[in-house]
Amino acid sequence: MDGIYTTEPGLALNVLVADCAPVLLADPVARVVGVAHSGRPGTQLGVVLALVEAMATRGAEPYQMVALIGPAACGLCYEVPAEMREDVARTVPEAWSTTRQGTPAVDIRAAIEAQLKKANVTDIRHDDRCTIETPDLYSYRRDARTGRFGGFIWME
Ligand SMILES: [Zn+2]
Repeated sequence: MDGIYTTEPGLALNVLVADCAPVLLADPVARVVGVAHSGRPGTQLGVVLALVEAMATRGAEPYQMVALIGPAACGLCYEVPAEMREDVARTVPEAWSTTRQGTPAVDIRAAIEAQLKKANVTDIRHDDRCTIETPDLYSYRRDARTGRFGGFIWME
């Protein structure tokens, strides 16, 4: 998990992922942009909430922010042990999910969306492709040995 932000025009920030969710945040009014890498552990620790707070110290306002949650392993694919699902759902109840096969799973996208809403970010957009189900995207779960794809954000 990690997050970073900038107020510097022309400086591009990048988040590299394969199944974890890339999250891009921008406050076009305060002119602050940020990225976070929010997989299961990062989501549990609230990396996106920490990023919103950090950006707020530079004048960003959640209600002015635009968030994009990029491609990630979906809640119907991201199988985890039952205890892990319980553990994650204790922190973010929206994460509770079940795979198509009926086994325990976590829905990272739903969890991050809930966290953003809790932080008063209302403009939440999705690239809701599932990395595991989309052959064009890298997936650690699907391929084990795999590359990473990146989300970039910058200000003009
Ligand atoms: Zn899926």
